[in-house]
Formats: sequence, structure tokens, C-alpha cells
Amino acid sequence: MVQAEKLGGVNVTAPKMQVKCGVDNCEYWREHYCTANAVEVNAMGDGHARTSEGTCCTTFKDKSFR
Ligand code: SF4
Repeated sequence: MVQAEKLGGVNVTAPKMQVKCGVDNCEYWREHYCTANAVEVNAMGDGHARTSEGTCCTTFKDKSFR
């Protein structure tokens, strides 16, 4: 069994994927892609997403509040 390696709270053995994003006022946004080490996505409102519009990125950080 492969042991998960932890680095700064991020599981570095987890699958990596490119995240395309349209939120250009986010601190992690660079040229239509996310540069965060990890992204957390949750359901909005009552916590039960029915469509993609019911989900949101909670890693978002407004870059105007540096
Ligand atoms: S943290 Fe979320 S909102 Fe910000 S660039 Fe990444 S995917 Fe987009």
C-alpha cells in the first residue's frame, strides 16, 4: 500500500489536475487557470447541489484584498 505523503497539509500523492477557471479576480487565477496547490469545492445554499450552479470554489480569495 502506498502511504500518502503530506506537505504543508496538501496530499502530494493525490492526483494532479489542471483547473480551468473564469474567476479572474481570484488571487490564484492566472491566464484562465488556477494556480492554487489544492482547491476545495462545496455545495452552496442548503448543502445539496442539484446542478453545477449549486457548487462553488471555497478556495477563492479576492485579489483586491491583499
Ligand atoms: S481558487 Fe477557485 S476561484 Fe480561485 S482560481 Fe482557483 S478555481 Fe478559480
